[in-house]
Amino acid sequence: LTSQTEEKTRKEIPKTRIIRRNLPLVAIVGRPNVGKSTLLNRLTRDFRFGAIAVDVPGITRDRTYHRAFWNGIDFELVDTGGLVFDEGREQVPFLKEIREQALIALNEATAAIFVVDSTVGVADLDRQIAKMIRRLGLPVLLAVNKCDDEQRYLDANEFWKLGLGEPFPVSGIHGIGTGDLLDKLVEYICERGNVFHEPYLVDERNVRRIAIVGRPNAGKSSILNRLVGETRAIVSDIPGTTRDTIDTTIQRDEKIYCLMDTAGIRRKKMVEYGTEFFMINRAFKAIRRADLVILVVDAVADIVEQDEKLAERIVQEGRGCIILMNKWDLVQKDEDTYEKAKHYVQTRLAAIDWAPCLFVSATTGQRCEKVYELIESVYEQYSRRVSTSVLNQVLEEAIVWNPPSTNKQGKQGKIYYCTQVSSKPPTITLFVNEPKLFKENYKRYIENYFRKSLGFKGTPLRFLWRGKK
Ligand code: GDP
Ligand code: GDP
Repeated sequence: LTSQTEEKTRKEIPKTRIIRRNLPLVAIVGRPNVGKSTLLNRLTRDFRFGAIAVDVPGITRDRTYHRAFWNGIDFELVDTGGLVFDEGREQVPFLKEIREQALIALNEATAAIFVVDSTVGVADLDRQIAKMIRRLGLPVLLAVNKCDDEQRYLDANEFWKLGLGEPFPVSGIHGIGTGDLLDKLVEYICERGNVFHEPYLVDERNVRRIAIVGRPNAGKSSILNRLVGETRAIVSDIPGTTRDTIDTTIQRDEKIYCLMDTAGIRRKKMVEYGTEFFMINRAFKAIRRADLVILVVDAVADIVEQDEKLAERIVQEGRGCIILMNKWDLVQKDEDTYEKAKHYVQTRLAAIDWAPCLFVSATTGQRCEKVYELIESVYEQYSRRVSTSVLNQVLEEAIVWNPPSTNKQGKQGKIYYCTQVSSKPPTITLFVNEPKLFKENYKRYIENYFRKSLGFKGTPLRFLWRGKK
C-alpha cells in the first residue's frame, strides 16, 4: 500500500527541468585538496562573478555555478566539492545531502572534469570516483593537477590506469595546460549540442520571479523541492540549515520560473539582531525582486506577527501572492475544518485577503501539483490590462449605486473617468475634481467595487486619485 501511495505521490510531482540559464554545464569532480577550486578559478578567471563560497575547507555546501567562455562557447562550471565519501573522513555534517547535491550536478552536466593530484599519484578514492563517473556515461576529461614542472608532466602518464582516456597535465596555480583542456572540453560540449555561440541570456520577459517566504520551519525548502521535483536545497529538521538564498531557475512547458528560496539562515550576525530580523530582511529583499510571492504558512501553528509583516510588505511592494497552508497532512479534520481555517487565514492576513489560499502538504505532495496552475492564473491577473471602456462602465455603476458625498460647504466629489496606467500590479488612475473630497471609506468602496466586478484574484491593485491641476 505504501508503495502505491508513493507511486501516486511521484506522479503528482510536476515535470520540470532545471535550466540554469540553459547553458551547458560542466561538473568538476575529485577528492578534496586536489585543487578543484584553484583550477576552477583559473578556468573562469575572466568570467568570475564573485568568489567561490566554501564554508569548510574542502566542502562546498551547495552547488556553486561559475560562468565560463572559451573558443566562442559559453558554458557553466559547477564545483561538486561535495563528492566526499565516508571512509577516512571525520564526521562531515550533511554528508548524505552533500553527496546528493554532487550527484544532481553530475546528472545535469554535459561533461565532467575529473581532477586528480600528480603529487599523490592514483589514490584509492580516485579509483572509486572513476568507477562512479564511468557509469554515468558522461564525457570526462582527466585533469592531472599540480603538474608545475616537466617531471610532473611525465608523472601524469600514471593516470592512464584510471581507464578514463588521456590524462591532461595541468597546473591550476600556474595556469599551465588549461588551454588544451578547455579546447578539448569545448569540443565535447559542441558534440553534445545545446550550445550557444553568444553569451546567452534568457528573455527576461518570459521569466516569472517567485519568492518563497514564510517563518522558519514553515516548510519553504520542502515546498521548493516539490516545485522543482528534486532536492536542490538541503532540507533538515534543524531550523535554518539552508546556507544561503538559492535561486533555482526551471523551465516548465514554455515558461521559465526563477524560484527564490529564503529559508532562514543562521549566521553570527543573527545573534546581534535576532532570528526574526534576519529572516524578515532576507524575505523583504526577495519580495522586492519577485513578481509573485508564495507565502508558506504552517497549518499547525498560529499565524503570528511575522506572517502579518510579510503580508503587509507584499502589498507595499505590489506583488502577486499565493498563500500555501502547508503541513495540511498534520491537521485533524472534521466537516468545517477547511472553512474555519480559510476564514482564520483571511482575517489574520487581511492585508492579502485577495490572495488565493491552497491547503497543501509538501510531505505527501497533496495538491502540490495545483501550485503551478495557481501561479499561472495569478501571474495573468498581475499582468492583466483592462480596457478603458470596461473600467469606466464599472466606475459608472459604482457611482450610481453609491454617489460620492457632499461636504459641509456643499461641494461634491466628482470622478470624471479612469484608466489603467500600468500592470504588474494593475494600477488605475481616477481623474477627479478634488482628491480631498473623497473620504477613505468611499475610496475603499470604489476600489472594492473594481475588485468585485473584475476579479484580479491574487494581485494587489493600486489606485491613484488625481485632481485637476
Ligand atoms: P579542492 O579541495 O580540490 O578544491 O582544492 P584547492 O583548490 O582548495 O587546493 C588544495 C591545495 O592544493 C591548495 O593548497 C592549493 O594551493 C594547492 N594547489 C592547487 N592547484 C595547485 C597546482 O597547480 N600546483 C600546486 N603545487 N599546488 C596546487
Ligand atoms: P523551512 O525552514 O521553511 O525551509 O522549512 P523546511 O522545508 O526545512 O521544513 C521544516 C520541517 O517541517 C521539516 O522537518 C520538514 O520535513 C517539515 N515539513 C515541511 N512540510 C511539511 C508537510 O507538509 N507536512 C509535514 N508533516 N511536515 C512538513
